[in-house]
Amino acid sequence: MSEKIGFVGLGIMGSGMARNLLEKGHDVTVWNRTRSRTEELAAAGAVAADSPKDVAASCGITMICVSDTPDVEAVLHGDEGILAGLSAGDLVIDHSTISPSATLRFAAQVEDAGASWLDAPVSGGSEGAARGTLSIMVGGDDAQFDRAAPYLEAFGTTITHVGPIGSGQLVKLVNQILVVGTQLAVSEALLFAEAGGLDLEKTLSAVKGGAAGSWMLANRGPQMIVRDWRPGFTIDLQQKDLRLVLEAADELGSPVPGTSLVFQMYRALQRRGFGGEGNHALVKALEEMSGLELGG
Ligand code: NAP
Repeated sequence: MSEKIGFVGLGIMGSGMARNLLEKGHDVTVWNRTRSRTEELAAAGAVAADSPKDVAASCGITMICVSDTPDVEAVLHGDEGILAGLSAGDLVIDHSTISPSATLRFAAQVEDAGASWLDAPVSGGSEGAARGTLSIMVGGDDAQFDRAAPYLEAFGTTITHVGPIGSGQLVKLVNQILVVGTQLAVSEALLFAEAGGLDLEKTLSAVKGGAAGSWMLANRGPQMIVRDWRPGFTIDLQQKDLRLVLEAADELGSPVPGTSLVFQMYRALQRRGFGGEGNHALVKALEEMSGLELGG
């Protein structure tokens, strides 16, 4: 039997995900703090609720996709929050990227209401949300994963049940460590090529198919060599995720020297006003230090 799906948080990611649920024929109720953002989805057939509480009260499954840990806290708690509307047997799925340890706390609060929790952060950017091709890493128990899977398939193509509650968020942070480590390597390599007087386009073609190839090199390399800093993912959002990595690594006692370095480089770029640029603008920090300029 098909369940009613609630969606709380219609930003860049949430609006695409909710639209895909509607397009696959699901019964969707939405809420967003800025109400005007619900209009397009309401026109496409969604019900616009007055509060997160009303979403949870009218739906068996409530999905959340808001910015950060305090924002998940805000939509869960209070007189108008999701917790106030939950019934026994309901399911809350959090698609936001937030703290793994806060996730355990939120899940326990939801379980106190007799409901269940899955943490299901996503990767694949705004394009993935719009096209329904996201990667989704899910933490929670088997039965709830099986219950959620048909709905997650509306906007995800790689859906992996990675372990118990909290492990979805941890895997998302693993993803972010890999993203910024690769970004630093691509930045260093391209600036080195520039210093050596190489043709940057030919250099990219020569190395991208070999052992050094990566998504970052293939997709952001061509943007970097023509100094196109338009964001797929902004430095400001990347920094939020790196803060989560550094906090979790501290709690776990796991060393992350490379990620710490990139965090400080992005911080310097934020101070210079580059927070709205794509995360591949990391190379600008090396340019500042060296006086070299990519494509210069
Ligand atoms: P976004 O476009 O900035 O949207 C943020 C959403 O959260 C908006 O709906 C906003 O409501 C809502 N929100 C923020 N604070 C709130 C609060 N205190 N109370 C209620 N609602 C609040 O962000 P996004 O790009 O969709 O990202 C959402 C999540 O997905 C983040 O955790 C992000 O890290 C993750 N993510 C993003 C990408 C990406 O490429 N963008 C990729 C993977 C994962 P308003 O409309 O009222 O501001």
